[in-house]
Amino acid sequence: MDFSWTPEQQRFRQELHDFILREMPSGSERGEEGHSPEFSRKLGKAGWIGSSWPVEYGGRGLGAMERLIYSEEMVLTGAPIGYHHIAERQMGPSIIMFGTEEQKRSFLPRIAAGECAFCIGYSEPNAGSDLASLTTRAVQDGDDYIVNGAKVWNSAHRADYIWLATRTDPDVPKHKGISVFLVDLKTPGITIQPILNMANHHGFNLVTFENARVPGSAMVGERDRGWYVAAGNLDFERSGIERVGRYYPMWQEFLGFVREAKPDGRRLAEDALVRHRLAEVQIEFDVGRLMCYNVAYMMSQGKVPNIEASASKVFGCETSQRMARAMFDVMGLYGQLEPGSRRAPLAGRIERTWMTCISLTIAGGTSEVMRNIIAQRGLGLPRG
Ligand SMILES: Cc1cc2nc3c(=O)[nH]c(=O)nc-3n(C[C@H](O)[C@H](O)[C@H](O)COP(=O)(O)OP(=O)(O)OC[C@H]3O[C@@H](n4cnc5c(N)ncnc54)[C@H](O)[C@@H]3O)c2cc1C
Repeated sequence: MDFSWTPEQQRFRQELHDFILREMPSGSERGEEGHSPEFSRKLGKAGWIGSSWPVEYGGRGLGAMERLIYSEEMVLTGAPIGYHHIAERQMGPSIIMFGTEEQKRSFLPRIAAGECAFCIGYSEPNAGSDLASLTTRAVQDGDDYIVNGAKVWNSAHRADYIWLATRTDPDVPKHKGISVFLVDLKTPGITIQPILNMANHHGFNLVTFENARVPGSAMVGERDRGWYVAAGNLDFERSGIERVGRYYPMWQEFLGFVREAKPDGRRLAEDALVRHRLAEVQIEFDVGRLMCYNVAYMMSQGKVPNIEASASKVFGCETSQRMARAMFDVMGLYGQLEPGSRRAPLAGRIERTWMTCISLTIAGGTSEVMRNIIAQRGLGLPRG
């Protein structure tokens, strides 16, 4: 088995790495939480976003392995990708797969330029894991659809468009009768209400639709067959390396801290329990990273990873949680100190990491749901 990169891929990585370090704004939040439309535009202008998409739609026609290198560099450097990330990761590829020619020409160049952000409109107050029970209605009115309902736990406050799953036929089994639309969040009748998460951060919203008029041309894929569009879109969401890598920049800083720290006059790095715990997490990170490489490799061979995407999602998220917990535990009571506290190690970021890691195994489909997919589609076991 040859895991090495081609010279072109190594050059691609190095150029991107240098670009990120040169252009990354200082002081902004990092990773997916980091919201910098300016940085996104710089990335877009330099041709890094959507580089695997066809040239005629604003891409560079590169392959799935280059896309993997792109996301790995974003994750490992902690680049603030929050503005364009969702659109780049899952809307662009979904529009390529399911969109009309008009949608491709309208959206892909704007996403690739870092000028168009999306949020995901799937979950509702009464539909989460069982997404097919969604009740947001889209009723045809001439060439348009009138939308009424509510979507929750999305990042609409940072987006221009919502990728909206609606019910267009309520009289058929629930997986049927669903249609997906690309909806401009400035459409009259849409209201965005903020929700604070457990880290006291505005991470979510409740978006309500009251007679919002959406053109029929905004529908993605066939009417009433949106379940397949949504499922394909979720596979793109679940297979990213950000699941396993999101705390890796923090992990590197933490290892530096552990090497130097002497809390009781004795070096933390010499404590056998600490050493073994950290070694174990590092092994898991390396395994999770290889699972993401495998998903990208399958895509580069024209295959559609589904079980593999779910496996990499569940393992990646749980590894990130183990990473966060290991950092928290090694710090003892000091790990709980918040940013701003005088004695907080690493400026309180360990506590932040802990507070955000809980949600990883819920967002994008819970670990239970991922295991159900693997059991059913991978192992051929009956539906649970
Ligand atoms: C950080 C974060 C970001 C998110 N971003 C978005 C977003 O951008 N857009 C969006 O639409 N949604 C988003 N969500 C919502 C997320 O998709 C849902 O929270 C998730 O799908 C679970 O749905 P639920 O919260 O309704 O829980 P429920 O579906 O009510 O589940 C409750 C519990 O029951 C378990 N459970 C449910 N069904 C089964 C089953 N069949 N077998 C075994 N166990 C089961 C679940 O695993 C869970 O533990 C986000 C959530 C979080 C935490």
